[in-house]
Amino acid sequence: MPADILDKEIKFLPGVGPKRADLLDKELGIRTFGDLLYYFPYKHVDRTRFYKISQITGDLPYIQLEGIIKRVGIAGAGRNKRLTAIIADGTGTLELVWFRGLRWTGDLVKPGKKFLVYGKPTLFNNKVNLVHPEMEDPETQIKTISSALQAFYNTSEKMKNSFVTSRVISKLQNKLLTLVAGKIDETLPGWLTGKLRMEGINEALLNIHFPQSIENLKKAEYRLKFEELFYLQLNILRQKSGRNEKVKGFVFTRVGELLNTFYHYHLPFELTEAQKRVIREIRKDTGTGKQMNRLLQGDVGSGKTLVAIMSMLIAVDNGFQACLMAPTEILAAQHFRTISEILRELPVKVGLLTGSTRKKERTVLHGELISGELNILVGTHALIEESVQFRQLGLAIIDEQHRFGVAQRARMWKKSEHPPHILVMTATPIPRTLAMTVYGDLEVSVIDELPPGRRPVVTAHYYDNRRERLFGFLRKQIELGRQIYIVYPLISGSEKMDYKDLEDGYESITRAFPPPGYIVSIVHGQMKHENKETGMQQFISGRAHILVATTVIEVGVDVPNASVMVIESAERFGLSQLHQLRGRVGRGADQSYCILMTSHKLSNEARQRIKTMTDTNDGFEIAEADMKLRGPGDMEGTMQSGFPFALKIAHLGKDSQILEYARQQAISILDNDPMLEKPGNVILYRQLRKLNPEIEDWSRIG
Ligand code: ADP
Ligand code: MG
Repeated sequence: MPADILDKEIKFLPGVGPKRADLLDKELGIRTFGDLLYYFPYKHVDRTRFYKISQITGDLPYIQLEGIIKRVGIAGAGRNKRLTAIIADGTGTLELVWFRGLRWTGDLVKPGKKFLVYGKPTLFNNKVNLVHPEMEDPETQIKTISSALQAFYNTSEKMKNSFVTSRVISKLQNKLLTLVAGKIDETLPGWLTGKLRMEGINEALLNIHFPQSIENLKKAEYRLKFEELFYLQLNILRQKSGRNEKVKGFVFTRVGELLNTFYHYHLPFELTEAQKRVIREIRKDTGTGKQMNRLLQGDVGSGKTLVAIMSMLIAVDNGFQACLMAPTEILAAQHFRTISEILRELPVKVGLLTGSTRKKERTVLHGELISGELNILVGTHALIEESVQFRQLGLAIIDEQHRFGVAQRARMWKKSEHPPHILVMTATPIPRTLAMTVYGDLEVSVIDELPPGRRPVVTAHYYDNRRERLFGFLRKQIELGRQIYIVYPLISGSEKMDYKDLEDGYESITRAFPPPGYIVSIVHGQMKHENKETGMQQFISGRAHILVATTVIEVGVDVPNASVMVIESAERFGLSQLHQLRGRVGRGADQSYCILMTSHKLSNEARQRIKTMTDTNDGFEIAEADMKLRGPGDMEGTMQSGFPFALKIAHLGKDSQILEYARQQAISILDNDPMLEKPGNVILYRQLRKLNPEIEDWSRIG
């Protein structure tokens, strides 16, 4: 059978037709036989167990029973009109109710007929009934592929209204599998499935939809998850090795004058061991002639900026320019200040370019970049605009990468005749499995140590009614000479309301902390850039005691004297945001505090988040908890991970072991056959091209 049976349009499957085909396409993106087969159930329910009507109570989950219809009737009127049927099995009777599809159901459900009934019991007026149960003729069940475990498929509201239920999808799968079973082309080489003792694709697809036992199902799941994760890794790793072969990097040979002088005379503090190690890794990478693509992970406050500065000095020492890109203007401006300050006695020229840089300054910057006069450019994404051209950009650093996508990273490549070395820095603690997938094409360095003398931030949860106590505590901290952040949420969609919260908050804070004894400044995204800068500057210089802000200060901001972070409506923030915000304090030697203010009404998930925050300061633990709470989907989304294909069955959080195993297999295959040219790997090559048609030429950069 030709490979393309799975490419056949879904409307040609008996029982589908143009209307249902349209629905399946619009609602689930199912267009072909293959799409349907790879539309996997989200759960399976044991259908070997039959309940007796006398055993059924209102609090049971889905149940199935067999019985004979006694009476059928219509009750109610208008929106309440419903079809009811009484079914009996010798131990009692039970009411079945339908509000929709009355005519269609009425034609099917007739007194005297025998049915397998499947549904979730509900209590209504103290009586148990089944609303919209699935009805099946015991005779027809014997004729189709049967299974002990019934698969359940997600369907949309629209589909339900057109009676394309989970049950219908299951029937379609049944028809499809009867047609194609045993004829589907294998998607993994036999030597690999053999070696790993996995079943073939035909068996796996049959067993995922119609398993005969739990064991059966587990085997099918494993095979399909493995396959998915394996190709994901093979794709990433293949791109990476293709790049290493093809792309020549600038060689930073010189052990530089600037770096030496800086290290011996201007280093503001002893480097931590972790910082030293990472700098060694970067020097090694940039000295070899290959192009560096490195991810630097380090928890908030671990001192990534210093590593960035020293790496840029290496580039400048070797006659190249370097740039540092930050996600916000506030952070870019801060980096510019820090770097200018720390390098003020060295012959290095540093510039700042953001969206609010005036045209005149911008023209000057552009000129200095082209002439090579400017050594280091700091900025926001304004840096990657077409008009910004360097004389010779040797190193591009991207701070807080989780805000940037792969596409932006790629644009950095075009700034030079050769692609510059790339260092991506992030404090977003990414669980290992996710890093392996999202950043699978990068080398990873980790700063796993905080500068000495840091005391862990003490985190407390206050309900709103303890505000007076909070203010008392804040006054004491101010007396001790400390500074305080108070952050309000800003969730798009209700921004107007949020700004009102912020303004009301600011007012009540100024009432509780009135001038001239106290100075409160404010910073938020709606302000003009100059005003933002003034607000920040007041706080950085130590004049303002309190900074009221939105999450514009979430990442990167570094004011070591600030020792208290108050987060208002903390229940509205995600875990990684809370962790980032907390990271704004605890940067000096003083004991720091993070106070999470919430209302009394907390969802279970919000309660979990708050508890995680008060339980641990460890970024990795928080990331794992985060992934368990909301799944990796969001994270993948925000990082625009550049997944060439969506995961249909594997789960990065739960299937980390399979992922790791799949990665090992992919590595060892590519080690032996980098171009996948060997006859035994033909399937791999073909399948990869099919899954990721975007890679026309594998040597091109992803
Ligand atoms: P992040 O990794 O979150 O970007 P920063 O680079 O902003 O962290 O550093 C956090 C704070 O720690 C800064 O105030 C910085 O000056 C300080 N710092 C960095 N490295 C060291 C070190 N080796 N010893 C002491 N303090 C350090
Ligand atoms: Mg930083």
